[in-house]
Amino acid sequence: MTPIEALLHRQIEATGPVTLAEYMALCLSHPEHGYYTTRDPLGKAGDFVTAPEISQMFGELLGLALAQVWGEQGSPNAFVLAELGPGSGQLMSDASRAASRAPGFADAAQLWLVETSPVLRAEQAKRLPQPNWADTVDDLPEGPLFLLANEFFDALPIRQYHLQNDRWRETVVGVEEGKLALGLKTLPEAMEEAPEGAIRERCPSGEAFAGAIAKRIADHGGAAIIVDYGYERPIPEGADTFQAVREHAYVDPLSHPGTADLTAHVHFGALASAAQDMGAATSQLIAQGDLLNRLGIGARAASLARSALDQLDVIEAALKRLTHPDEMGSLFKALAIYPVDAPPPPGFEDA
Ligand code: SAH
Repeated sequence: MTPIEALLHRQIEATGPVTLAEYMALCLSHPEHGYYTTRDPLGKAGDFVTAPEISQMFGELLGLALAQVWGEQGSPNAFVLAELGPGSGQLMSDASRAASRAPGFADAAQLWLVETSPVLRAEQAKRLPQPNWADTVDDLPEGPLFLLANEFFDALPIRQYHLQNDRWRETVVGVEEGKLALGLKTLPEAMEEAPEGAIRERCPSGEAFAGAIAKRIADHGGAAIIVDYGYERPIPEGADTFQAVREHAYVDPLSHPGTADLTAHVHFGALASAAQDMGAATSQLIAQGDLLNRLGIGARAASLARSALDQLDVIEAALKRLTHPDEMGSLFKALAIYPVDAPPPPGFEDA
């Protein structure tokens, strides 16, 4: 039994089943035994590979997009350059290097990483010069905010609801015959109208993050680019997207508490609403492949290949993996948050 599993058994015995959000938070972020607290899960030797780990092109193009917005907003001479959940630090390393080609950008940028894991903070320190760390967006200094988040929102705890026999019920984790098991707890309150069997997922902390970023951007300027797997609106019947990945394979989300990555698909429509409620504008939701193509990934790949001909195959494979609809190109999507009186960041203009 993992330490987290033992803890869950004790807690459930004492106070009853826990919500999925409580389960996810405990497994991922327990201060001693949590998944992210205890390891660097990224890369071939870990559990999953993310876009910035596939190619430098991903971070470079997003960094250049932020630098362009910075210029369009009058090149503010002090601003916060931030990332949520930077993992190994690779994305920010590539993004800030590319963005620093805009004269004045590097000198004006104050680098902030929103990261709770001590192990990952140490990884980030290896790749980034003198970053500042914060536990949450509220701890960032006030000022224009230019922010990236890749595969951050999928890691935040969700609550999940099922409409069964005309009643909304919440997914909970309890214990059955000595083992962790999923169950449904009937809710006293009605929720939205939906077809029988419908599933809805909500991510309260994700909405809070989106709102906090949006408030900074509405008040002080800047822009945020959020990339993740997800959907704009739930289909009427909804889908159960709660999942676990370990060593590059899907596993039962209850089978390895604290030693498997737990995620859910991101409900981008809910993030956009939370951002708009704080007075910011939001872009259309765009497929990752389309965004990277609009930002010029083809030309970037060609130029990289010219300077490293022996790497041609690697570069072509990375380009395909990041943009092709059968790979990450359409499962992953991007949303931008920006001031209401500014145009959307490059690549996010309406088609
Ligand atoms: N963005 C990186 C890593 C994604 S993994 C990449 O694309 O490679 C998720 C990251 O979010 C990890 O760095 C993890 O430690 C961090 N994280 C998860 N939940 C968090 C929370 N509530 N607050 C801050 N960071 C969190």
